Order: sequence, then C-alpha cells, then structure tokens
Amino acid sequence: MAALQRIQTHGFRRWYERQLIECHAWLVSWFLGVILLVSGLEIAGRGASSRVLGVALLLAGLAVAAFSWKRYHLLLEVAERLGEQATCPACNAYSKFKIISSGPAPLPDGGDPVLENQGGGVWLRAQCRKCGDEWVIK
Ligand SMILES: [Zn+2]
Repeated sequence: MAALQRIQTHGFRRWYERQLIECHAWLVSWFLGVILLVSGLEIAGRGASSRVLGVALLLAGLAVAAFSWKRYHLLLEVAERLGEQATCPACNAYSKFKIISSGPAPLPDGGDPVLENQGGGVWLRAQCRKCGDEWVIK
C-alpha cells in the first residue's frame, strides 16, 4: 500500500495532511460533476435537437459525481480511522510514532472491515518516539 510507504518516509502528520487535501480535491470534483449533471438537465429540456447532448452531459455528470463522492468518502474515512489511533496510549503524544512493522493480512483478532475492504486488512505496529511504547493501528 502506497500510503504505508508515505507514512514511513514523510511521517504520519504529513501523510494525514496530504490525505485531507486529496480528499477535498475529490469533493471539488464531486461538485463539478453535480454542475455538469444540472447543465445536462437544462440542455436536455430545451428541445429535441439538444436532447442527446443534454442526456450525455447528465450521464457524464452523474458518473463523475458518483465516483468522486465514493473516493472522497473512502479517503476521509481511512484518514479519520488512522488519525483516531495515532495517539500513543501511554503518553498521549499525537502522531509521534514510527512504523516498526506492517501487514497486508488481517490481524489474528480480526481487523477493521472498512480498511480490510480497501487495503486487504492493513495494520501498522507503531512505536512512540517519545516514550517507546508500542501499539497496533488497524
Ligand atoms: Zn508515548
């Protein structure tokens, strides 16, 4: 998973920031898709000659909006899920950890179904840079 490599090389905080930026770019894309959809409705209603163009714009807008919304929701969900677990349980330091191991396979006690659907059961074993405590982010 490319996200794991980005967390390892740039740190969790920077990855999280970029994830939110990318996520909101998909939100802008969704909005543009909705504008395309509404434009298609407007053009299709003008008469028989522009109906084909209007329907094509409507379908294109629908496809862009649906895909963008799905990406936006997915990226935000992954970022929030990992962000919620980025605090050291021992000293409460936020995002001050390094990844000492990770896995694409589910943990024996079961992983998170949302992340499993997206990344095959991604888990990270994190070690706090402040106090050395270890915990699992899944
Ligand atoms: Zn700690």
